[in-house]
Amino acid sequence: MSERVIPLVDHRMSTLSAAVPSKAIPATGLLGDTLGRPLRDLRISVTDRCNFRCSYCMPKEVFDKDYPYLPHSALLSFEEITRVARQFVAHGVQKIRLTGGEPLLRKNLEILIAQLAALRTVEGLPLDITLTTNGSLLERKAQALKDAGLQRVTVSLDGLDDTVFRAMNDVDFPVADVLRGIEAAQAAGLGPIKVNMVVKRGTNEHEILPMARHFKGTGIVLRFIEFMDVGATNGWRMDEVMPSAEVVQMIHRELPLVQLEPSAPGETAERWGYADANGQHDVRAGEIGVISSVTQAFCSDCNRARLSTEGKLYLCLFANQGHDLKPLVRGGASDEQLSSAIAAIWQGRSDRYSELRASLPPDESGGGRRVEMSYIGG
Ligand code: SAM
Ligand code: SF4
Ligand code: SF4
Repeated sequence: MSERVIPLVDHRMSTLSAAVPSKAIPATGLLGDTLGRPLRDLRISVTDRCNFRCSYCMPKEVFDKDYPYLPHSALLSFEEITRVARQFVAHGVQKIRLTGGEPLLRKNLEILIAQLAALRTVEGLPLDITLTTNGSLLERKAQALKDAGLQRVTVSLDGLDDTVFRAMNDVDFPVADVLRGIEAAQAAGLGPIKVNMVVKRGTNEHEILPMARHFKGTGIVLRFIEFMDVGATNGWRMDEVMPSAEVVQMIHRELPLVQLEPSAPGETAERWGYADANGQHDVRAGEIGVISSVTQAFCSDCNRARLSTEGKLYLCLFANQGHDLKPLVRGGASDEQLSSAIAAIWQGRSDRYSELRASLPPDESGGGRRVEMSYIGG
């Protein structure tokens, strides 16, 4: 029998307060942190629950029926999320990604999407609103999500082989249902769709080429993610990380690739296009991306903030503490006070975990106190 791994500390209890600064900080859209990084991307986790048990994220031994998920009263309501998001947008956020847990498990999510879709950036433009999902409920929900104002989806899919896929989600969920979800999203116009594959050496690297062949020429951008040391429960080991450079080489040997320019500053993925016979990018064949969070840090232009399901603001995926906004949201703070508190937190940000990973002493790089990805989202 495998032993149950119990995190030493429940990271959710460990909280930093969110203080209202004595002098208001105006929302100019030009906020910068201590390293001059702007605030552009807000990832909102709408639930800490999931119907999958991917071993790299919510291993069954820990996330079992006794796991203390957040009670409904602790979750921010849609109105509260939208109010907080509005302050972030006034400070420069242009893109919102809904995540989780599995975001499509949150009831009536379309209502939240419609509320967020009504927000405008500092420049008066609509936000880029997207969602990351395991795809299990997508076939049923794609059209309603589109109608509510969602622009795009990213679907996580770790292999095409049904046996491998069922083992990786660890709830025996069939791959065919996710593929139908992707088709439904395409038909609903939720594109360009991205498909994220976490590569774990020894588990699914033999799925890299079948996935590349399958999605080449479909308009879907397949992205390979290095298995990361997020959270405290997934038993991460460096020897299970397959460096992105190896993924690119493996594909390039069969399907030649050319490197493409980044599409936007702060872009997490390095882009590679399928090459034509002349070695030029064949646009119709499309492109892949690699996200090298372990082997190549991209903290220097990281412009992402994360809001947990219960209203804590995290400044880094690898943070072990969040700044609790809920007391302000539920305690009668004005919008101006909430906005200034958020600004002060971002102005104090110095996080750059991936750049420091290799040089951190083991007790500081160790995941014992780190927040789970299912809690703050990817
Ligand atoms: N449930 C949704 C899904 O799977 O798309 C959204 C939440 S999930 C936490 C967001 C993303 O994080 C997924 O693409 C997942 O593959 C990725 N992820 C989770 N744990 C990871 C890890 N240890 N290393 C790399 N990526 C991870
Ligand atoms: Fe669920 Fe997504 Fe985590 Fe898999 S990666 S367990 S689908 S939250
Ligand atoms: Fe951003 Fe933290 Fe990831 Fe660096 S380690 S890119 S700061 S989330």
